[in-house]
Amino acid sequence: MLSTEQLYHKFLECTGVSIDTRRITPNCLFVALKGANFDGNQFAEQAIASGAKYALVDDEVVATQNPARYLLVSDCLTALQDLARHHRQTFTFPVIALTGSNGKTTTKELIAAVLSKKYRTYATVGNLNNHIGVPLTLLSLNEQCEMAVVEMGANHQKEIELLCSIAQPTHGLITNVGKAHLEGFGGIEGVRKGKGELYDFLAQHAKTVFINSRDTTLTAMYRERLKTLRSETTFAEAIFYPGDPVELVQESPVVIYRDVTGHDVTTHLPGRYNFDNMLAALAIGQYFGVSPEDANRAVADYTPTNNRSQVIVKGSNTVLLDAYNANPSSMAAAIRQFAATPARRKVVILGDMYELGDESEAEHAALGKLIADSNFDLVILAGKDMKYALAHLPNAYYFPDKFSLHNWIMDNPMTDTHILIKGSRGMSLETVVQFI
Ligand code: ATP
Ligand code: MG
Repeated sequence: MLSTEQLYHKFLECTGVSIDTRRITPNCLFVALKGANFDGNQFAEQAIASGAKYALVDDEVVATQNPARYLLVSDCLTALQDLARHHRQTFTFPVIALTGSNGKTTTKELIAAVLSKKYRTYATVGNLNNHIGVPLTLLSLNEQCEMAVVEMGANHQKEIELLCSIAQPTHGLITNVGKAHLEGFGGIEGVRKGKGELYDFLAQHAKTVFINSRDTTLTAMYRERLKTLRSETTFAEAIFYPGDPVELVQESPVVIYRDVTGHDVTTHLPGRYNFDNMLAALAIGQYFGVSPEDANRAVADYTPTNNRSQVIVKGSNTVLLDAYNANPSSMAAAIRQFAATPARRKVVILGDMYELGDESEAEHAALGKLIADSNFDLVILAGKDMKYALAHLPNAYYFPDKFSLHNWIMDNPMTDTHILIKGSRGMSLETVVQFI
């Protein structure tokens, strides 16, 4: 068995890390992780044949098959995390961690765009934010980087604590605490505790925290920690933002804000909640000395992809595609936003919110009430648990599955309509767009 130190020397001989034999780059280190349906050890040979320099394995029998190229450890996932932690310790540049229930990826992209105006910035690619993605992100850093932005996701307690122990952030931000992953966290208090692990880490290691001063949950979480901390440990500093006034001029169809210098900045993102995400990026940019002009340009130029808040024009219809994910908080934010959008005819196509456990029925029912109060011209619901929303919506169309939804939309074409599409990732409602 190799120690982390020995393993690290092998890692330094490699060009990068891969956990997927379909994405082997020449001379990379292949890590044989176990999934629900596969065991990476079985792919070690293929990885080497495809060009990997070494394969990290945790199957002793497999390890004997190619001792020169297979590196045996007791557990590949733990070894990957230890390797990332070790690599992290070789860097001194700022590592900014962010977590929260909603808006992590968008905020991460905005922060990275702003900081890139002044620093060589590396940020989490896509949504690689879990116990595997965070180590992979850290292992992608090199001495050319001047700044790292690391997204951390969690759906149960102690996960952020583990990710912080690997990434050892010097700065951190919680976007918000809402109703996401209620099942794994054990309710909203559990979410607050779980996300709060980022504040705990920053406090225990005398690091800097950025806090949205208008978010009473976050400010309360910060104050609670100040009360309970022993005197020898505390945050290095707490930056409450926005320090200088940044005003929301317009929130739909896209956000326009008036910045500290009095300039109006037109963005590509809709909704008040995205304004919050922008404020976080502007605050971090200001803290690290990015000029307001550069920061505004970065925010203005950022265009979302991957079904997150995309505005798509199809014929005479305008589709607001927000099908990347959904939970009670983000669903409510999107519906309120859409309700406030001026349009002649408005239709919502909404799918199930997943991972709500025992609270699923009540949350879908509450959603039904919110939709009913919003007076849309047509309400279309799809998914198993959306039936609980129907009590308040006698005129809604309901489809237990997506295929009957597709058929109905094909048979009932819409014109001159604004359409909001949103549901959990598992529903992948983006498929609906082609039928509109
Ligand atoms: P994930 O947990 O999948 O990583 P995330 O936290 O990274 O999600 P994003 O991918 O940035 O979140 O955004 C997903 C959706 O959440 C957006 O399309 C939007 O509907 C909603 N959203 C974004 N920002 C906020 C916010 N600040 N408050 C509430 N909802 C938001
Ligand atoms: Mg994300």
